[in-house]
Amino acid sequence: MLVGTTHPGNIGAAARALKTMGLARLVLVAPRTFPDPEAEARASGAADVLAEARVVPTLDQALAGTTLAIALSARRRGLSLPELDARAAADLAVTEAQHGEVALVFGTESVGLSNDETLKCQRLAWIPTGASYSSLNLAAAVQVVAYELHMAAGAPPRPGTGFDAASLEEVEAFFAHLERNLVVSGFLDPAQPKRLMERLRRLFGRARLEREEVNILRGILTAWDGFGARKRRSR
Ligand code: SAH
Repeated sequence: MLVGTTHPGNIGAAARALKTMGLARLVLVAPRTFPDPEAEARASGAADVLAEARVVPTLDQALAGTTLAIALSARRRGLSLPELDARAAADLAVTEAQHGEVALVFGTESVGLSNDETLKCQRLAWIPTGASYSSLNLAAAVQVVAYELHMAAGAPPRPGTGFDAASLEEVEAFFAHLERNLVVSGFLDPAQPKRLMERLRRLFGRARLEREEVNILRGILTAWDGFGARKRRSR
């Protein structure tokens, strides 16, 4: 929910921020200028979110039917509202959204939310910033919160970058193979295998081996096994 937005460009950019994070419901409380070509331009591929935005004259109307409203503010207000950062707010919002409607309420560009508006909400959330300037552009603030909501909701991994971790058994079979290979090649003293194997386990543990990588390593060991056997035969 955007309250009293003065620049239509920010409304468009907020629509885009929502759509990029898989969100769609934008409520505009008494915007100064809307609809507006500037909003459409800044929405870019999120024209649908903008077109479906609900416009209402008061915050009370916007909040009707919600079970949790979180006010976003760059400033601490000295109000008696529980405060939390944007990440914690997103977690809370995602949990609460399983039971009811949740609103995230953003203020006017120039002055933010009034105390009256803020007190209609049950929580106050801030985006942590550098110490010398804490006021984000409105649409930038919407983007950060939308991102946190997306992550809190369990954003799916990027298609095509699925991590196919090797199973414990596959990794153990690799270590056993490696140990045999190192003993046969004379590198590892079979009476004292522990220390070196521990170091190698640590090394491969850090790498978080994928299944295909274990297969490659096993292939290399098998080739070396064959090489060693041929060498022994030819001696
Ligand atoms: N000068 C205003 C800032 C307005 S920025 C003020 O001091 O409050 C417009 C809106 O963006 C704010 O009302 C708030 O909803 C959001 N916003 C900007 N920076 C933020 C921050 N650091 N944390 C939380 N919300 C922020």
